[in-house]
Amino acid sequence: MDYERQPYRRCGRSGLLLPAVSLGLWHNFGEGKPVDSQRAILHKAFELGITHFDIADRYGPPIGAAESAFGRIFPRSLRDEVVITTKGSNPMWDGPYGKGNSRKHLLATLDRSLTRLGLDYVDIFYLHREDAGTPLEEQVATLDHMVRTGRALYAGVSNFSPEHTAEAARLLRDLGTPLLVHQPPYSLLDRRIEGSLLGVLEQEGVGCVVYSPLAQGLLTDRYLGGIPAGSRAAEGRFLTPDRVTPEVLAFVRSLAELASARGQTVAQLALAWALRDPRITSVLVGASSPEQLEANVGAVDGLEFTDEELAAIDRAAKE
Ligand code: NDP
Repeated sequence: MDYERQPYRRCGRSGLLLPAVSLGLWHNFGEGKPVDSQRAILHKAFELGITHFDIADRYGPPIGAAESAFGRIFPRSLRDEVVITTKGSNPMWDGPYGKGNSRKHLLATLDRSLTRLGLDYVDIFYLHREDAGTPLEEQVATLDHMVRTGRALYAGVSNFSPEHTAEAARLLRDLGTPLLVHQPPYSLLDRRIEGSLLGVLEQEGVGCVVYSPLAQGLLTDRYLGGIPAGSRAAEGRFLTPDRVTPEVLAFVRSLAELASARGQTVAQLALAWALRDPRITSVLVGASSPEQLEANVGAVDGLEFTDEELAAIDRAAKE
């Protein structure tokens, strides 16, 4: 672990520090991805001071594969040097208890995750999404129970509305297990959290770990010459080729010019831009190779923006 490579930022008003750039295992850790490539990406992450790994029960394919892969590769000697997360809510098995945010489902899915990961506890357990059918009181009491029984050290929510986040934070505070973190999407192509979520998180002292800061690869040079074989858009499952529009490509070309003037790649500019706001604790990137990850961590070498640069980025976004 090179602890000098990147800054560690405080997660809300907690004691936990997270690296500016963290790694997510949504893609590239399921079947069809060579174990050697998975191992190379994780080892590169350790080398780059990435101490935070974001996983979910469902990540694969098949379901659970990313947790099993991490559990196989992760060196146990590093357990106290890293933060490992998982999530629950999405469909995992058949029947009424196979999904959602009931106490019944969440405790079972976390226990299965721990088995796959080969761990006694995860550092953060997230409610992956809202579940309107389960009272929020039951959802947060389950998070509190997970922490009190040692299955998780901290509690988080993901994809929650600003209103439900504020309510969950209040309920959790009353239970004595503060809400550590929210995990929403955020990038130059998706700025919705600037509306009110970031304000709520600041007020409640909750950290913000943002996902898909590169818009799944759109905010890189990956698609400037067409859709390459093996790319996420070529796979077409989560990033469909119709999202590679002429407007997006024109925006990325403008960003490329601004990035080059700053001595950065488009991806580095996009990550540094997301980190310009101190309320953003960490950007959660994906990587299909160690080279991508290493290049992306380079974003931390240029985190400062002038007002003129920020204005130019905003203008390019509106064109
Ligand atoms: P990104 O926006 O960082 O996209 C990552 C993808 O972009 C890579 O897999 C790669 O795709 C491409 N890429 C990355 N770096 C480069 C580069 N330097 N040059 C060219 N292409 C590059 O994040 P993800 O969408 O992967 O999300 C990150 C993590 O966030 C997930 O792993 C997961 O942990 C979390 N997440 C959470 C969600 C939630 O609901 N809570 C939802 C979605 C994600 P390619 O395969 O084409 O090489």
